Amino acid sequence: MDVVFGTHNVGSLPTLLERARHNDDAQLEILESLEVFPSTLPTKRDSVYSGWVSISVGCNNTCTFCIVPSLRGKERDRRPGEILAEIQALVDDGAIEVTLLGQNVNSYGVEFGDRGAFAKLLRACGDIEGLERVRFTSPHPAAFTDDVIEAMAETPNVMPQLHMPLQSGSDKVLKDMRRSYRSTKFLGILDKVRQRMPDAAISTDIIVGFPGETEEDFQATLDVVEKSRFATAFTFQYSKRPGTPAADLPDQLPKAVVQERFVRLTALQDRIAAEENAKQLGETVELMVTATSGRKSEQTHRLSGRAKDQRLVHFSVPAGCETPRPGDLVTVTITEAAAFHLIADPADAEQYSVRRSRAGDAWDRAQAESCGAPANGASVSGKPGAVSLGMPTLPIR
Ligand code: SF4
Repeated sequence: MDVVFGTHNVGSLPTLLERARHNDDAQLEILESLEVFPSTLPTKRDSVYSGWVSISVGCNNTCTFCIVPSLRGKERDRRPGEILAEIQALVDDGAIEVTLLGQNVNSYGVEFGDRGAFAKLLRACGDIEGLERVRFTSPHPAAFTDDVIEAMAETPNVMPQLHMPLQSGSDKVLKDMRRSYRSTKFLGILDKVRQRMPDAAISTDIIVGFPGETEEDFQATLDVVEKSRFATAFTFQYSKRPGTPAADLPDQLPKAVVQERFVRLTALQDRIAAEENAKQLGETVELMVTATSGRKSEQTHRLSGRAKDQRLVHFSVPAGCETPRPGDLVTVTITEAAAFHLIADPADAEQYSVRRSRAGDAWDRAQAESCGAPANGASVSGKPGAVSLGMPTLPIR
């Protein structure tokens, strides 16, 4: 072992490793509070076209199933200027999409005494030139206020997408989880969001089989799921997490019961997701092209992208048309729908267009710097369809 460090001093890791190497001795450092925000550390980003920006760490809530409060401590908020500077740096680097990240993003500002800080931050993102897509995760229903909905609706680069953890539709289970909203409030927020943004895709997290969950409680979750019409849901089977209050609750449910409920919940949500996706048929959407790889895309000859509402769309490039680079924006019409993805197979060039973006240029630069070739046969100079010196490219139809 070289280094032992706490969650609050991940920023010291490079120094600790270097010290361990130099001293030829294991290093230990565990700090009580955070000194450097994780996202300000040097990172290698997964993609040049989008980035994650931490706006806060820690959480002031005490959900009984969650280990975050004891691991990460109280919420710490970064100053807006620091966040906006980091976003600007990402944009200068070629990113056109950012996701604001926090355990509880809409309580952002509580540390420096500004309850409206998150809505203001969203609006400020709208002023960053070149930033085309802003997302955030995750808000907490208890702290979700109308000013955030207004900021989302009125800021064009904030995407019509919301991930709002439900966890349970039963008010009794929510109380046992120490989640301070109730199902009526949750559904009320979704109504308001959809009133202001009718095209918003809403996703959620749900835990099945929390200790003491009765069949009636579970039915309440199914009811809320039915009413909520989630585009997607991340569903989890409850399992004891040592160190959390829920781990010591009586009435832990047998695995078979949890499994059976989980199957019913996912079947319901899969049906809803398929129905909601079917409504997209015939819709024209703008996709940000993502880097695709794997056997499936090789077989289908399709590329992939994310719509503004974050739906995953696999699309084909009509013969003779420009192949986009990851980070470019493509406009297509949806021709097929499934529960977890959409398909767009444009019949001809009339039904397909590409908007080359700074993010696509950044992708080309990154490829060139890593000794790869510009993606999909696109040229570094920006002219489509140039020969890529025999390096492998993604196939097109
Ligand atoms: S589940 Fe989310 S809101 Fe609840 S304690 Fe954990 S991080 Fe905080």
